[in-house]
Amino acid sequence: MRSITKLDLQYAHRFYNFKGEAQYLHGHTGVLTLEVEDTVNPGVNMVFPCNEIQKTAWDVLKNFDHALILRSDDPLLPAILDVYEKQGIKNGAPTNTMKGPAFKNELATAYPECRLVVTKETMTVEGMIKIVYSLLKDKLNIAKITFTSGVNAATESYTPSKSMDRCPLCGIALVDGVCPKCGYKKH
Ligand SMILES: [Zn+2]
Ligand SMILES: [Zn+2]
Repeated sequence: MRSITKLDLQYAHRFYNFKGEAQYLHGHTGVLTLEVEDTVNPGVNMVFPCNEIQKTAWDVLKNFDHALILRSDDPLLPAILDVYEKQGIKNGAPTNTMKGPAFKNELATAYPECRLVVTKETMTVEGMIKIVYSLLKDKLNIAKITFTSGVNAATESYTPSKSMDRCPLCGIALVDGVCPKCGYKKH
């Protein structure tokens, strides 16, 4: 069975060297749908609590919210960092509080202090799905990711590789056999 959750991301981007309107900087509200698959946990009669899926995903993905997403070879990148530097907001601002832990993998690097994500590939809806999967595949049993942004939408299905040990009392993933939320111990 699957648990399904959605979250919104507001972001700005452009498709560098794309021959169309999208080569100009513009913004979207993107809607990400995550489907997590596993057995139904008999203790709580759920696959996984949806608010916990959201929390796990948001912890990483909030770096994309109210963020600028640019490809690493885009000349806007040094130009914008130069403006942020001169304005004194490149290394953070008191009002920039919604920061996730910085991440870096082969597809994307987050700079939470200046709300910037630098990507290897153009950040299309397809590109976003690849990035989201790379960031969350070890944390959630992802079966499907759908991303919608304006008129664009894409979806990809995955074969969940494992079954997670979950707390029979509150449903969240056990860490070394212990529930990080309620303290339940698996014996
Ligand atoms: Zn766009
Ligand atoms: Zn628990």
